Amino acid sequence: MKWLGKILLYGILAVSIFLLWENVLRSPCSRIIEYSIGAFDERFGLSQEEFIAQIESAETPWEIAVGKELFQYVPDADFKVNLIWSEEQARLYQGNQLEDALDSRQDSLDSIQSRYDTAVNRYEGAVRSYETKLARYEQDVNYWNERGGAPEPEFNKLQQEAQSLDSQANEIKRLLTEVNKLADENNTKVNQYNEDVHQYNDLFIEGQEFDAGNTDGTEINVYSYDGLDELRTLLVHEFGHVLGIDHIDDQHSVMYYLLNDDNQKGELTDRDISALELSCRL
Ligand SMILES: [Zn+2]
Repeated sequence: MKWLGKILLYGILAVSIFLLWENVLRSPCSRIIEYSIGAFDERFGLSQEEFIAQIESAETPWEIAVGKELFQYVPDADFKVNLIWSEEQARLYQGNQLEDALDSRQDSLDSIQSRYDTAVNRYEGAVRSYETKLARYEQDVNYWNERGGAPEPEFNKLQQEAQSLDSQANEIKRLLTEVNKLADENNTKVNQYNEDVHQYNDLFIEGQEFDAGNTDGTEINVYSYDGLDELRTLLVHEFGHVLGIDHIDDQHSVMYYLLNDDNQKGELTDRDISALELSCRL
C-alpha cells in the first residue's frame, strides 16, 4: 500500500500549492472578475440598464490605476451585484418627499406673507385717510355748531360726508378682517412648516450610521444610496474590498469606512492607489 500513501501525499501537496496560489500568491488583479445582477428591487426606481451603467462606471478608477480590465459585466456570472431594499432607503425617500413638501410650504408661506403685507398696507392707508376726513368733518360740524347750525346746503353736505365716513369705517372693518384672516392662515402654515421640520429632523438624527452596502468577496450588496453619483461611489468602495483592500483611515479616501463630503466623488487618493498596489502586488 506504499504507492497509495505516495499518491495521497502528492495529492495533498498539489491541493496545498493550489490553495497557496489561490489565496496568497495569486493577486486579485490577475484575472477579470465577472459579475452579473442578482437581486434587483424596483422600488429604487432604477432600470437594470442604469444600474449596470453605474457599476461599469465604478470599475473605471481601479482599472485606470492598474492599467487593465479588472471587472466585467457578464450576464449569469456567479459573482452577483444585488440591489436590496432597506429601511434606510425608505427613510431617505421619505426625507426627500418631506424636503419637497417643505419647499412648497416655504413658497406658500412667502406668498401669504406678501398678501398679508399688502393687506396691512391697505388697512393702514384706509385708516389714515379716514382719520383725515373725520378730523375735517368734525372741524366743519364745530364751525357750524358755533354759529347755531348750518344752512341747508351745508347741512346736506355734512350729512353726505357722515355717510361716506360710515361706509369708509365699514371698509376699514372689512380690511381688518382680511388682515386677521391672513394672519391666522400664516400662523397655521408656520405651524405646519415647523411640524414638517420636526419630522424631518427626527428622520435624520445626526451621526446615524448604517450599512449602505457590503461585500463578502463573492457578491456585493447595495442597500441604500442618495442619487446615482452616490451609488457609483458606493460601488467603487465595494469593488475596492473585492480587490482585497481594507478600510483606510482617511476621510478623503474612497476606502474610508464612511461616505462623506470629502470622498463622495469616488476618486482614488494616493493612499487608495498604494493600497491597491499592495493588494495586487504591483
Ligand atoms: Zn467598506
